[in-house]
Amino acid sequence: MSCPHARDIAPVPPRTPKGCEECLKTGSRWLHLRLCLTCGHVGCCDSSPNQHATKHFRHAGHPVVASFEPGERWAWCYADEQDLPVPDAAEPYLR
Ligand SMILES: [Zn+2]
Ligand SMILES: [Zn+2]
Ligand SMILES: [Zn+2]
Repeated sequence: MSCPHARDIAPVPPRTPKGCEECLKTGSRWLHLRLCLTCGHVGCCDSSPNQHATKHFRHAGHPVVASFEPGERWAWCYADEQDLPVPDAAEPYLR
């Protein structure tokens, strides 16, 4: 099964390059960061206490995230539960 979502993406710069948007507001901690390739939301991973990246998908319906960890290059579609290559357009916004 191939992912129909990745080709519709037009990545934008991260909204909160310093960390998870919600965790920064509440003073929470995170383990790893994920970048929403639809709106630039930065959220924390499922190993983090608050799992804001997954919550963002549920609330906003934006299906594709990329790792926002330094040097990591992979993307994930929540809707298809599928690994994806990082779209070329997203590369400038990763760390
Ligand atoms: Zn998909
Ligand atoms: Zn968070
Ligand atoms: Zn989003």
